[in-house]
Amino acid sequence: MSNRLDIGIVGAGVGGLAAAITLARHGHAVTVYEQAGRFARVGADINLTPNAVHALDGLGASVGQAIRRAGARPTFRISRDWDTGRETSRLGMSDVAEARYGAPQITIHRADLLAALTEAFPAQRVRFGARMRSLVQRGGVVELGFEDGSSAQHQVVVGADGIHSRVRAALFGEEKPRFTGVVSFRAVVPTERVRDVPEIEAFTKWWGPNPQSQIVTFPLNQGRDTFVFATTGQDSWHEESWTSEGDVNELREVYRDFHPDARKLLDACETVLKSALYERDPLPRWSVGCVTLLGDACHPMLPFMAQGACQAVEDAVVLGRAIGGLVAAAEVPAALRAYEDTRRERTAQIQLGSRGNQWMKGPGNADWLYGYDAWHAPLEPAAATA
Ligand SMILES: Cc1cc2nc3c(=O)[nH]c(=O)nc-3n(C[C@H](O)[C@H](O)[C@H](O)COP(=O)(O)OP(=O)(O)OC[C@H]3O[C@@H](n4cnc5c(N)ncnc54)[C@H](O)[C@@H]3O)c2cc1C
Repeated sequence: MSNRLDIGIVGAGVGGLAAAITLARHGHAVTVYEQAGRFARVGADINLTPNAVHALDGLGASVGQAIRRAGARPTFRISRDWDTGRETSRLGMSDVAEARYGAPQITIHRADLLAALTEAFPAQRVRFGARMRSLVQRGGVVELGFEDGSSAQHQVVVGADGIHSRVRAALFGEEKPRFTGVVSFRAVVPTERVRDVPEIEAFTKWWGPNPQSQIVTFPLNQGRDTFVFATTGQDSWHEESWTSEGDVNELREVYRDFHPDARKLLDACETVLKSALYERDPLPRWSVGCVTLLGDACHPMLPFMAQGACQAVEDAVVLGRAIGGLVAAAEVPAALRAYEDTRRERTAQIQLGSRGNQWMKGPGNADWLYGYDAWHAPLEPAAATA
């Protein structure tokens, strides 16, 4: 297949790699620029709800198989009150979700998800150690400048460079993400040590006394481990890194009044990571000319609906459908506008819903979220070019 457009993607995270795979499959020449020197095993869980697993399955059989091999399939999605343990909602996941939405929920280490994606995209098309610092659009060419002094030119550029996106700053100006006043604790516990906690194979959310407070647990690494993710309001900690160590005694103290089953999980934690949570408001536009954004670059969100990575993958699929079939750069600006018109309302709803943190606290219908089909959702008219 002959190359159609020359596309640069800034950021080899979940969204950038998913976009690279789908755009390359359409025959475009795709280069990905990643600031890190290599993929490292950082981060922890990524919770892929059925909408994201369905989107990933369409990227190729190898991706779907790899995430199923490495991940776990939670049995249910359960909500409980923090103190009494009373169950307030329950959704069937695993086979039930597969029958209803065409894909299960899969919980997976971020590194295993990245590995599944990198297998489906040629390694030589990823330039590591390339930290983008400038972007100029002129005469049908987008020029990227990197910190090492090098530069590259493309017809189209996609900013998939996360919450601190340089591409976003180049398009719309500098604006720092906002500290939410919420911090998160993350820990991994061998499941055999917490086997007596009821329904340990489920995704369980213990809703705290206020919207900032919760403990979420679910299986990881094919169920061998259990992931513990807890949040609480705390203004004094602003460290955003995913690798900053926290104190397990602080973790146990913060949640000391939670139900004994939730506390058992915290008692089993030997180490914990702690990071502050940041977010932004929905962005009114994502694209300028032949440059657009996806994922955290345009809609970073709190993790309360577990949709950060999922929405990045959906964006990538819809972007691929919007510009996949194009051959002329002149057609790109309209197609990019149509891509963002197709995606903005849904991602803003999820961003704001995550901020409010009430979703599925009680009984509810998850179809609008889990049943979204990024491969077939109607595209805005100008995007129907493929
Ligand atoms: C290291 C890390 C760990 C994470 N761990 C978790 C987790 O455990 N649980 C969870 O729920 N969410 C985690 N997240 C957030 C979650 O993964 C995001 O919501 C989701 O991945 C969004 O995907 P994305 O591709 O839009 O952005 P990201 O995953 O943030 O990827 C952005 C990529 O762009 C690269 N980049 C940034 N700036 C530049 C630049 N100037 N030039 C070149 N490359 C650049 C980054 O190095 C990164 O690889 C993590 C994010 C990161 C970066």
